[in-house]
Amino acid sequence: MKQRIDNTTWNSILNDVRGTMTEISYKTWFLPLKPIEMDKEAGTFLIAVQDQMRLNLLTEHYMDKIEDAVSKVCGSKFHVLLKVMSEREINDALRNPKQKDTPSLKPLSSDALKQEFFLNPKYSFDNFIVGPNNNYAHAVCLAVAETPAKVYNPVFIYGGSGLGKTHLMHAIGNFIQQKDPNMKVLYVSSEMFTSEFIEATRGAKQSNEKINNLKKKYRTVDVLLIDDIQFIEGKEGTQNEFFHTFNTLYELEKQIIITSDRHPSKLTDLDERLKSRFQWNIVADIQPPDYETRVAILRNKAEQQGVDLDDVMLKIIDLIAEKVKFNIRNLESALTRVIAYKVLINKDKALTVELAKQQLPDIFDPREVTITCETIKQAVCKKFNVKLADMESSNRKREVTHPRQIAMYLTREMTDMSLPKIGQSFGGRDHTTVLHACDKIAGEIKTNATVAEEIKQLMDDLK
Ligand code: ADP
Ligand code: MG
Repeated sequence: MKQRIDNTTWNSILNDVRGTMTEISYKTWFLPLKPIEMDKEAGTFLIAVQDQMRLNLLTEHYMDKIEDAVSKVCGSKFHVLLKVMSEREINDALRNPKQKDTPSLKPLSSDALKQEFFLNPKYSFDNFIVGPNNNYAHAVCLAVAETPAKVYNPVFIYGGSGLGKTHLMHAIGNFIQQKDPNMKVLYVSSEMFTSEFIEATRGAKQSNEKINNLKKKYRTVDVLLIDDIQFIEGKEGTQNEFFHTFNTLYELEKQIIITSDRHPSKLTDLDERLKSRFQWNIVADIQPPDYETRVAILRNKAEQQGVDLDDVMLKIIDLIAEKVKFNIRNLESALTRVIAYKVLINKDKALTVELAKQQLPDIFDPREVTITCETIKQAVCKKFNVKLADMESSNRKREVTHPRQIAMYLTREMTDMSLPKIGQSFGGRDHTTVLHACDKIAGEIKTNATVAEEIKQLMDDLK
């Protein structure tokens, strides 16, 4: 007979494998696993994995460890089955194993299912990085968490996808419940709210009771956190239900927090009465983070995962922060992929910036060759037939100074090295020497067709 795997069993299994590997490996590969079910007679133990890459890796490197741990904790030999499952499939399998095949009313997106009604403990104010882009929204949320329904009500937070709206909502909820477990905090995505409303109003039978239950559920809370309200645009019935929920809670002086991807005035297909209510008190926006905030978010995330912030890692973080600008979810996922890779290769070789870039072809175009001072020097030496050492020497003959100045000029143009750094790379020369070389070559390009052609060819070759 198939049965669920309880938390104690699963935690014991995790603890057992944990002892046999580094903390990073454990967090990367094992923490995200979800136990689905076990069958004692058949001797099988099913575990859900997020993606094929993980499945392959676990099968190849860790299967023995997992089977040993399962068999040890469960007291008999088990064969472990790994299966790639979406968030939705996992939820379905765990929630109602018997009615697995009953078609659900309306497929919910995995985001809505994942978040459902529960407060996610991983989102807190402590791990929310504050920057100029979000400090107002953050301050409002913190004030609300400290004194619900006293300072600001309702609160409306809006901003693009992946900028931390859901994170802030859960942070408020967690904060309030930690301080006072008696407070009834309800988090719900608008998608789930809609789905529940449709479910309750469908079919004549019992629908009164269902509607009443729904009303009771939403109108008796102390804090209502309703996420992504733009979802109810164009859905009149749901809007109406939410309108009454809003009014009741507001009159009872209960805290209401709403998020959206747009300012209320931009929610075109929404009841005017709701639109105006959303703007009764505080409307705060979240903008994309600036570079410094992106770096801070990535460093914090890496540290949380137990990754050593060595020079290579810091450089990789800088590069990712330079490239991924508008969505923190994407920012984090790039870092997660690099960390997963770092863990994977840990035993054999060290992570380098180049290897990390290769893991992120969507961010760093593999066709984009990196042009460095060294590759420039080599190309210039080859073209003018001089020795590499002459790039750094104090030789002042024109056959050498001219190529050297060209190399300095190209380094200045084609890399992001500073003048002093370039000076250092060319035999410890002063930055004014570099500047002089750059000005000289720039002038020659304008007046001397041969030099202009030489430079153009070199640039083409380097690219
Ligand atoms: P939204 O709801 O606005 O689409 P989320 O709240 O889901 O965005 O945030 C996406 C991811 O980025 C989450 O993992 C969240 O923890 C993270 N994140 C967003 N903003 C911050 C921040 N300021 N500091 C740390 N992590 C953040
Ligand atoms: Mg969200």
